[in-house]
Amino acid sequence: MILRRLLPLVLAGTLVAACGGEPGGPAGTSPRGSAAGPCDASGKDFAGDIELARCLTERFWAERFRQSGNTYAPISDFVAYNGEDGPECGRQPAVPNNAFYCPSGHFIAYDATWLEGMYDRMGDGAVYLVIPHEFGHAVQAQLVNDFQFNVQRELQADCYAGATLSGLIQEQALQADEGDGAELLANLEAAGDPTDAWLAPDAHGTAAQRQAAFAKGYGQGVGAC
Ligand SMILES: [Zn+2]
Repeated sequence: MILRRLLPLVLAGTLVAACGGEPGGPAGTSPRGSAAGPCDASGKDFAGDIELARCLTERFWAERFRQSGNTYAPISDFVAYNGEDGPECGRQPAVPNNAFYCPSGHFIAYDATWLEGMYDRMGDGAVYLVIPHEFGHAVQAQLVNDFQFNVQRELQADCYAGATLSGLIQEQALQADEGDGAELLANLEAAGDPTDAWLAPDAHGTAAQRQAAFAKGYGQGVGAC
């Protein structure tokens, strides 16, 4: 549910949002358009990157669903909160320093103070890891995915996040420098569980497991997840 302790993303300034084109426009990355429509957020500041990450990620999934003859259901809400004032999910209070997908409401919420802090310290890569990971959970909720352990759900969300990022880079919605993938992997390492407690209900996977899951999606796409 959360990419814990995302340590210094060396990505600052390298993962540059280049969205803003019209689907079907001269640049034509998505000639058939998409359910999500054009993404016109600037990607120039935290608020812009947040909106752009949301829009691009949903556009990515809308297109993948369409290609497989299905329809992606956009999230119902995208909620910024601060510390303790987040929305409940199934009577569970939101906790500070977190981002989460709520299945019962089909919404995503994030502690904006926490995420903006990472954005300021580490660069925009923080947003482009956390938001696609949470959308990975929103996608899981629309697929028939049966998980025995929470860690499997979390690692698939990491895999989906990798597939989303590489897909957006391939369609030139995002630009990445050579080596950015490795940097993202290095930072996932910091977000791994300290032990391989795969039975734990909140397990996210060890550093190596999270890196491997992200790399699989990044290198091989959604189908490998
Ligand atoms: Zn998660």
